[in-house]
Amino acid sequence: MNREDLIAGLGEIVGQENVLSSEMDLELYSYDASLDRARPDVVVLPGSTEEVSKIMALAYRERIPILGRGSGTNLTGGTIPVRGGIVVHFSRMNRILEVDIPNRTVTVEPGIITLDLQNEMLKRGFVYAPDPASQKVSTIGGNFGENAGGPHCLKYGTTTNHVIGAEIVLYDGTVIETGGKSQDNPGYDVLGLFVGSEGTLGLATKMILKLIRAPEAVKTMLAIFETIEDGANTVSEIIAEGIIPATLEMMDNIVMRAVEETIKVGYPLDAACVLIIELDGMPDGMDKKADLVMEICRRNNVREVKMARDAAERDLLWAGRKGAFGSIGQLMPSYLCCDGTVPRTKLPEVLAKVMEAGKKYDLPIGNVFHAGDGNLHPLIMFDERDPDQLERVKKLGSEILKICADAGGTISGEHGVGLEKLSETRFIFSEQDLEFERKIKKAIDPAGILNPGKMIPSPLQ
Ligand SMILES: Cc1cc2nc3c(=O)[nH]c(=O)nc-3n(C[C@H](O)[C@H](O)[C@H](O)COP(=O)(O)OP(=O)(O)OC[C@H]3O[C@@H](n4cnc5c(N)ncnc54)[C@H](O)[C@@H]3O)c2cc1C
Repeated sequence: MNREDLIAGLGEIVGQENVLSSEMDLELYSYDASLDRARPDVVVLPGSTEEVSKIMALAYRERIPILGRGSGTNLTGGTIPVRGGIVVHFSRMNRILEVDIPNRTVTVEPGIITLDLQNEMLKRGFVYAPDPASQKVSTIGGNFGENAGGPHCLKYGTTTNHVIGAEIVLYDGTVIETGGKSQDNPGYDVLGLFVGSEGTLGLATKMILKLIRAPEAVKTMLAIFETIEDGANTVSEIIAEGIIPATLEMMDNIVMRAVEETIKVGYPLDAACVLIIELDGMPDGMDKKADLVMEICRRNNVREVKMARDAAERDLLWAGRKGAFGSIGQLMPSYLCCDGTVPRTKLPEVLAKVMEAGKKYDLPIGNVFHAGDGNLHPLIMFDERDPDQLERVKKLGSEILKICADAGGTISGEHGVGLEKLSETRFIFSEQDLEFERKIKKAIDPAGILNPGKMIPSPLQ
């Protein structure tokens, strides 16, 4: 099928106004938050499951690559159409379909913005917990595709723990439903397979999500440390003490400086790092828990612990954390956000090795990350226009993931594999492991049209 016929065929399904094919449109869909670039042949904006099913059937009939896109904020090249083809942008499918408070669920379309959903639920006293720092922009469909995490996932779990059902369009347009509102479902964990599959197995057109009651009490603290080691040891000790805070987020000096240049939160510019520690739950016992956390901080040489006195102060502390990646843009034109996870007790040792590696490649690194989960996000700063720097950044990014894997960790905490970490999958998977994944992919997407070239590397020659 030539491109003109494809555009016309898609127009018949969704209306010509919902098909984008100009040079400018294709350029706009050629990138996401990673370093890679490639243009699709056409972009389509469906308005219903039926339309997605027809688009998929057309792609299968004509063997055209197809990929789903939320807001394109993923950091690993998940929405880069490396083999051209059709990008299905879910921006029109952004409705809340049902709020079922007695069953504590909400059913949504994939294009809804994560924070919009969360704000809507909060008005009713409920929380949809997974809160990627990109929540102002990211979509639930994209969170589903990447199994997104976020600061509050330490206590509440990542997206996979909160999606209890989904409607999925398969490679040939077949629509299946998996999971649901009942507590247990027999058979294979089909839903679990699709969450985090980076759009390589099917496109989710509806999701049933779990709601939890908004906590009655919240305490947010900023603990300031003179060394990264003291901050990291505090993280392990808090959890060893049996306390699971809602969040335990760390930010180092470089990142604090960048934040202060943009958001002005009042972070201490002469400290090595800060921890944002948030406790939530019932008011009873909350003060006692906070006292214990402060005591642990003191045992680890904390300089000071500041307690947010009201919602405005808490929001300011969070604005700094959630705006940290963007603030890095003040220091250098580009950054690569690495995403590796290590057992949390290994944090001090691994962070030291990461900074050493940065020196070796002569590239500055800032750290802002989900310390409670042992999920590191070294932000390597550079100038994308300089090919030599770009080369060094890629090598350093890979070396950092190797450091994490060698420490008993893994190559992604929440950002997935995408295009960027295909080679690095071999740090954690054997050829047999990867071959098994290829068999799953082949069984569910026999023509290999769904987001090809992502997540699973080709066999070694
Ligand atoms: C500043 C910044 C901060 C970030 N912070 C976090 C964080 O704290 N935690 C975190 O986990 N991530 C974070 N991210 C990464 C990113 O925001 C997440 O991966 C997010 O889930 C992507 O959502 P999206 O709507 O942009 O999806 P996209 O980037 O558009 O898509 C992501 C993947 O999902 C697939 N997909 C999209 N829609 C569907 C669908 N309907 N069905 C099946 N597959 C689909 C795509 O094909 C792609 O593979 C951050 C990114 C940035 C830029």
